[in-house]
Amino acid sequence: MKYYDRLIFELSKKGRTGFSLPESSWAYNADSIPDGLRRGTPAELPQVSEPDAVRHYVNLSNMNFGVDTGFYPLGSCTMKYNPKINEEMASYPGFSELHPLQPDDTVQGALQIYGELSDWLCSLTGMSAFTLNPFAGAHGELTGLMIMRSYHISRGDLKRTKIIVPDSAHGTNPASAAVCGLQVVQVKSTPQGIIDTEDLKPLLDDTVAGIMMTNPNTLGLFETEIHEIEDSVHAAGGLLYYDGANMNALLGKVRPGDMGFDIMHLNLHKTFSTPHGGGGPGSGPVGTAEYLKHLLPSPVVRKSEITGKYEIVDQPQGAGRISGFMGNFGVLMKAYTYILSIGKENVRKIGPYSVLAANYVKESLKDLYKLPVPGLCKHEFVFDGLVKANAGDQDREVTTLDVAKRLLDLGFHAPTIYFPLLFHQSIMIEPCETESKETLDAFIEAMRTIAAEAESEPELLRSAPHNTPVRRPDETCAATHPKLKF
Ligand SMILES: *Cc1c(COP(=O)(O)O)cnc(C)c1O
Repeated sequence: MKYYDRLIFELSKKGRTGFSLPESSWAYNADSIPDGLRRGTPAELPQVSEPDAVRHYVNLSNMNFGVDTGFYPLGSCTMKYNPKINEEMASYPGFSELHPLQPDDTVQGALQIYGELSDWLCSLTGMSAFTLNPFAGAHGELTGLMIMRSYHISRGDLKRTKIIVPDSAHGTNPASAAVCGLQVVQVKSTPQGIIDTEDLKPLLDDTVAGIMMTNPNTLGLFETEIHEIEDSVHAAGGLLYYDGANMNALLGKVRPGDMGFDIMHLNLHKTFSTPHGGGGPGSGPVGTAEYLKHLLPSPVVRKSEITGKYEIVDQPQGAGRISGFMGNFGVLMKAYTYILSIGKENVRKIGPYSVLAANYVKESLKDLYKLPVPGLCKHEFVFDGLVKANAGDQDREVTTLDVAKRLLDLGFHAPTIYFPLLFHQSIMIEPCETESKETLDAFIEAMRTIAAEAESEPELLRSAPHNTPVRRPDETCAATHPKLKF
């Protein structure tokens, strides 16, 4: 073990400090704290010098894998590069030090950004209005479904409590629907991986509130029958909800609004390059067609036609309030900066480049990894494990988990694994448009090396990873009994 792999408590030396603070005029008055709430003894904090404290945190951060340290091809999660200018703009004091209760008059700049970002999202998606208030994709889904319910209820159509969700859907879709009090009904996929319209038809009766879809779907396939689906769902009185968490493939090319969707959400922390994962707050804006926009949640930002000023107003008919204030403004700032810095022309290239990258990786590996649905994909695709996995041989069988763990040894983050649930050994890869051809080639080489090792040295894969700070944790235990303190 290297010296600085030790934890900060082990480096602690009584009386050593890394700070010197002036006497504060705000020094706390111990008498003002009730007896029972005061500490008997001082907290046991590590006593270390500044260099030791800095090294501790930097070394900890180096034990992590992030999009700033390497390629992160996590399917259905769009781990694209997060440009640093986004952070710089969001941290300007004029934005970062705003208080949510300041009078509208004093936050005109921030409200203008809110208004313009909403307008740009409308142009990119074909929706008529957006709320930027929801804090995450799943939160956006819940908001969107609340709008759907409000719409049916406002027309006195109380029977519509059934929501159709494809079997390939992201797990948050049925979860949000259930939280919204809707009854989830699954529609099957065809062997080609798209919605089976024959399976859909019998589900469409007068109890259907709508259908939740993503297109391209989670297999990275474009739902070619979208117009037929739109016609039949609308004819049955249902609405179309679009899960736009990963809209990479479509950006600048195709708009959900033009495909007939009525309500949708976006993940700014995927498609619009703001950080996510364990890393930070998210944002799941929700857009609607013109006829539903009065149902967007309060508060809304509006530009007054009389004064030309932006104002924050309540929406009396809206689907309630889904966040304390106006969403995660810092995240909105980053997405706004991203769109502005990419520019109109380059936004159009995101779709084609992300599709090109995914197809390049897929075609370069499909001789060694099973491709259950062949053909052109959009921004992501799914393999079903290795072609030569030594299946059935107890001592030599190599699973998708083994491939994923071995990738960590070779310097790449693992793709999404065992999702979608349609295949037993799913490996879902989404390279994103932000990676160079050289990076994609290095990843392809690593995946080919792993396929060769599976035949020659399967034990190497079955016991991987070998050079990460943590080897194979018991994942259930790590989630249910995490060790959160020293
Ligand atoms: C990530 C994702 C979501 C959920 O987004 P969160 O911000 O994690 O709640 C929903 N749908 C799809 C397709 C996603 O990829």
